[in-house]
Amino acid sequence: MKAAVFHKPGDISVDNVPDPVIKAPDDVILQITATAICGSDLHIYDGFIPQGKDLIMGHEFMGIVAEAGPGVANLRKGDRIVVPFPIACGHCYFCAHDLPTACENSNPEYYGPEGNLMNNKGGGLFGYTALYGGYPGGQAEYVRVPYANVSPRKVPENLTDDQVLFLTDIFPTGWSAIDWAQLKGGETVVIFGSGPVGLMAQKAAWIRGAGRVIAVDPLPYRLHMAELRNKVETINPNDTDVVEAIYSMTGGRGADVCVDAVGMEAERSFMDKVKAVVNVEKGTDKVLELCFKAVRRGGIVTVVGVYGSPFDNFPVHRIFDKGLTIRFGQANVTNYIDDLFKLVEDGKVILDDIVTHRLPLQEAAHGYHIFKHKEDDCVKVILKP
Ligand code: NAD
Ligand code: ZN
Ligand code: ZN
Repeated sequence: MKAAVFHKPGDISVDNVPDPVIKAPDDVILQITATAICGSDLHIYDGFIPQGKDLIMGHEFMGIVAEAGPGVANLRKGDRIVVPFPIACGHCYFCAHDLPTACENSNPEYYGPEGNLMNNKGGGLFGYTALYGGYPGGQAEYVRVPYANVSPRKVPENLTDDQVLFLTDIFPTGWSAIDWAQLKGGETVVIFGSGPVGLMAQKAAWIRGAGRVIAVDPLPYRLHMAELRNKVETINPNDTDVVEAIYSMTGGRGADVCVDAVGMEAERSFMDKVKAVVNVEKGTDKVLELCFKAVRRGGIVTVVGVYGSPFDNFPVHRIFDKGLTIRFGQANVTNYIDDLFKLVEDGKVILDDIVTHRLPLQEAAHGYHIFKHKEDDCVKVILKP
């Protein structure tokens, strides 16, 4: 089969690789009909999250069941499903406590409680490096889906692939950022990053009752999409001091909630890069710092942007002084997916209005290039095998 294979940073190509096979009774083999490139894939592509050998990329995918193992109860050949990005066994301590991303069984080699940099991670993820289980991903013609009784969801016939594909990751992730913020209604929510995840968080914020949603991003074309699709206010940090702007928009107090949907690969200056090299940091924590500054006293900061190393001078003093509540992490997709399916089915949210590029899988390398370099006004790429 054909698959988008990571070889080394900056080098992903579509290669011929062996077809996946059933390895456990509760596996299915999925024939992919649609898959997307995620900002998280860029961390591997850019070398921020290490991967030493070839790996099939992709954790946002859906398709048609081509083969089901004898232990698969509710799926059979021909069923159309979406597959959440975390790989979860469904019965361990953490799966039983609604924390599928912490599954104790799906990443046997590198799982551990401490969360160390190189040898102690959470549960397995599709197409997301050896550290997260080394599972081949879904930017391919076929993929093996383990624990198929647990996370996959059948897709109603009346919904197209594009309408539901983002239930695998970015919509539940944006939703999670807002869910963690415990909105009561009327809050001012500032979302840093207007990439796919930030755009989904904007949609979630309105649905969950925000009074005001403000998007921050240095790329004018992404702010334009945020205004157009999600009717948010916008701030470009290249035009103005973003923290001052947020104070002046909120009576000098700051936002009720700040969301970091950027992560460690935020735009940075030469001096930021020097600091990272000197301190052995991966990327920058400057968006976190902006969130802690821009949020009001007693406010909430939620972080779905990915961080992969410690940072010196982390502003712990500000978190204490302002009495902030903070919440970080991967999205526990299966906790939300059924409710979110219903929102899509009922027409309460449109997810595919952020797609700018639909390419054949063969053009995956080009898709990565334009998504990473923000060329051709790229916001979200769907690949079709
Ligand atoms: P993306 O790279 O397309 O979006 C990031 C956006 O941040 C870009 O539009 C960029 O211009 C903007 N940005 C850069 N510097 C900024 C700054 N200083 N202030 C404001 N905005 C800035 O990626 P994406 O797909 O939207 O993903 C965003 C983050 O979410 C990534 O770190 C990704 O790994 C992470 N993610 C996390 C989860 C999870 O489960 N927690 C799931 C999916 C993605
Ligand atoms: Zn993703
Ligand atoms: Zn588990």
